[in-house]
Amino acid sequence: MARVSDWFNSKPLDELNAQQWEALCDGCAKCCLHKLEDADSGEVFYTKVRCRYLDEETCRCTDYANRSVQVPNCIHLRPENLQELAWLPSTCAYRLRFESKPLPAWHPLVSGSREAMYSAGVAIRGRSISDEHVHPDGYEEHIVHWVE
Ligand code: SF4
Ligand code: SF4
Repeated sequence: MARVSDWFNSKPLDELNAQQWEALCDGCAKCCLHKLEDADSGEVFYTKVRCRYLDEETCRCTDYANRSVQVPNCIHLRPENLQELAWLPSTCAYRLRFESKPLPAWHPLVSGSREAMYSAGVAIRGRSISDEHVHPDGYEEHIVHWVE
């Protein structure tokens, strides 16, 4: 039988309460990077260009409550739309749990803090640039391969 503290690995995504759903996010902020899609193959490429509302140091949205207003295409993850979000990084806790995989040892819910995640090099901290400083036609030169 799973321990109560293992809810993040044992509880189905559609049974999480709002607080648990939010806590599942590891805070890596990879999903706040701009992505490019190959029109022919559909392949998605991550760039190091981040949304201007992201605080890179904390990897937190600076206007989370109004993110849909500030950025109309800001993605709201839900149990019912995870299947369509194949571009989510392989480290994303929502993707991992959707694929019935356990959270890694560095995840804040497992390690108890964000430090292990930063040490593991999972977050974008220190590796991105704000979209305020990049022309929309210039994202291609900022494609990166460290988002897995
Ligand atoms: S990629 Fe997933 S785990 Fe990382 S910040 Fe986005 S939603 Fe959270
Ligand atoms: S509005 Fe906030 S949550 Fe949405 S992409 Fe920008 S920084 Fe990320």
